[in-house]
Amino acid sequence: MNISLKILIFMVVGGIVGTILHQFSGNAFINEYFINGAFHVGGKWFVNALKMLMVPLVFVSIVCGVCSLADPKKLGNLSLKTIGLYLVTTALALVLAISLALIFQPGEGMPLKDTGYVAKESVPFVNVLVNLIPSNVVQAFAEAKMLQIIIFAILFAIAIMHSGKAGERIKEFFDSLNEVVLAIVNIIMKFAPYGVFCLIAKTFATFDTESLFQGLFWYFALVVLALILHALITYSALLRFVGGLNPIVFFKGMWPAMITAFGTSSSAATLPVTMRCVEKNIGVKKSTYSFTLPLGATINMDGTAIMQGIATLFIAQAYGEALTAAQLGMIVVTATLASIGTAAVPGVGLIMLQGVLLQVGLPIEAIGMILGIDRLLDMTRTAVNISGDAAVSAIVAKSEGEIDLDVYNDPVIHSNFEDPEPETK
Ligand code: ASP
Repeated sequence: MNISLKILIFMVVGGIVGTILHQFSGNAFINEYFINGAFHVGGKWFVNALKMLMVPLVFVSIVCGVCSLADPKKLGNLSLKTIGLYLVTTALALVLAISLALIFQPGEGMPLKDTGYVAKESVPFVNVLVNLIPSNVVQAFAEAKMLQIIIFAILFAIAIMHSGKAGERIKEFFDSLNEVVLAIVNIIMKFAPYGVFCLIAKTFATFDTESLFQGLFWYFALVVLALILHALITYSALLRFVGGLNPIVFFKGMWPAMITAFGTSSSAATLPVTMRCVEKNIGVKKSTYSFTLPLGATINMDGTAIMQGIATLFIAQAYGEALTAAQLGMIVVTATLASIGTAAVPGVGLIMLQGVLLQVGLPIEAIGMILGIDRLLDMTRTAVNISGDAAVSAIVAKSEGEIDLDVYNDPVIHSNFEDPEPETK
């Protein structure tokens, strides 16, 4: 069976099994052996396996990608366009989120309760800037500091290009290493349906559906609505009018990565799958996506920005605080920065929300109110986060002549990347 269909089926079955088990979550046997036993271990294995690949994959593919740029001067252009588009899409996401929150007022009538939330420390933006340059490369690798690894990889690749014969030998080595790393991705993806099943089953079994209906429903629904609108309208319009690409073809090709993002709630863990989809189904050349996608997974989080925008207004409304136009502008700026600083792993978007709340003078304890339902929103926003990275990559690639339109328009989607008979689009 085609693997993306298989992942989808396992995801739905996981949701059903999880919902049933939620009724029995008080039962020690079910809790210990299923929810926090088999499902917990299976899900963690899958996420760990994907994360394990993150550092080697990002480093090796950036080195190969930059080295394969026919004209190294293109790198400057590529980075400017990519970073510019990432910022624009995030700002658009926030404008949409804030407008919807102003129209629908999800926090109106929300009873205030003591949430018992204990604030964790969020990273100030100035530290994000200071930490761009690693002072210790080994530490950057060990702690998976993505921006630092990206910067070191680019420097390394530029040095290879300036090193003549010695550089050529190293480049050949990296090209071979790249093949090997991708072979590991293929092996791990064979287990994706089971991993996704465990992750979803555990989430649904742990998740307290009651809290959703106790006033938080409108917040939840509005975030999901904004995420869907942003993906379907903003990305489609950009793909169509800026990139001249058919958006339907795009979403069909990205489907396997979106499901993986939904299952793992982590753009970083999904990166191997995003890269494969963008290469095999969207047709973006490695020289472009090897740079744009790891960067996007690290700094471009439109879905996270949407949650932060709506959450801030929701909390303000719940506390009866009217926000001025200047404060709304401040939310756009700080939430853009907060989403840049958000690490591409589950739940960090909510921690970074503290910075936005502080900026507009709202109490950070209010985060406790939305904490209970954040996991499900995290899954959805991560799928949007990776779609944004892929859409920008496709548009930038098109403008640089780095996309193979035959692959883009090819009516087959590769979801099992070794599948000899891919499914028809
Ligand atoms: N889980 C998100 C991601 O990895 C980040 C977040 O919003 O918490 O893209």
